[in-house]
Amino acid sequence: MIWMVNVSGSPTLPPIGCRDPAGTLVTCSWQVRLLEALVPDAKDPKSAKNGYTIPVILILLVIFLNNRYTSLMNPDPVRCALSERFGWIALDFVNTVVITRSGPVDAFRTVDLLVSWMDLADPPGWPDLKPKGLTARRILHAEAVRLRVAIDALLCAAAARERMTASIGDTLGRPLRWVRTQNRIVGDSPSALTLECERERLHPAGALGPIAEDAVRLVASVSATRLRRCRADDCLRWFADTSKGGRRSWCSMATCGNRAKAARFRARHEGAVDAT
Ligand SMILES: [Zn+2]
Repeated sequence: MIWMVNVSGSPTLPPIGCRDPAGTLVTCSWQVRLLEALVPDAKDPKSAKNGYTIPVILILLVIFLNNRYTSLMNPDPVRCALSERFGWIALDFVNTVVITRSGPVDAFRTVDLLVSWMDLADPPGWPDLKPKGLTARRILHAEAVRLRVAIDALLCAAAARERMTASIGDTLGRPLRWVRTQNRIVGDSPSALTLECERERLHPAGALGPIAEDAVRLVASVSATRLRRCRADDCLRWFADTSKGGRRSWCSMATCGNRAKAARFRARHEGAVDAT
């Protein structure tokens, strides 16, 4: 339900409610009841009076604050997952379960979320490899979830300097066969020649090929001692530590790092209070 209120001299107000991660307008019943109580003729723009200006402003303020609260409590999984990039598309891909204030959110929870994530993350070749049609996208979704598990297991094995199991190798190797890659020479000046990579999709989940490739390059080129899972107990994210000292502990200072800092401060403060 969309309510429009027109106060004399002011522009038409926007729809009341908030948008969920899928973009659907959600109108809270209490907002509608409050609006009915304070602006009985809100449905009829012609009958709104100047005397309603203050209540309407108050209502809008309450709605704004409520929407902010709702968006904090129901974060967009795709934007949460991509608020931090990890320098490797394979790490961005495996780090798609994020701990938020309202609990863990999964950017691959649905087919649409996965496609939104791919649109925003833009892995190599995505515009050419993006599958068309719901059936193809469902296949991509099922295979993406499977590949994410395999990359996580690969990183665990690499960090622990253990051998990779055959099933991990198989799951990682399949997407490589779903895309045909060809390099093309671009330019005519020998000193300025570049290679342009062209990819052709041979399977609905062909877009996962470059991500699997990136995962293999990651574990082959980054030292096992620099490949780490975030130290926070409830966080599953991986990162490649490129800091000078190599002592990075958190996937992100904005989330896990800050939470740990706040916890240390609370512990110190409580310790000081107990001592007095
Ligand atoms: Zn973390």
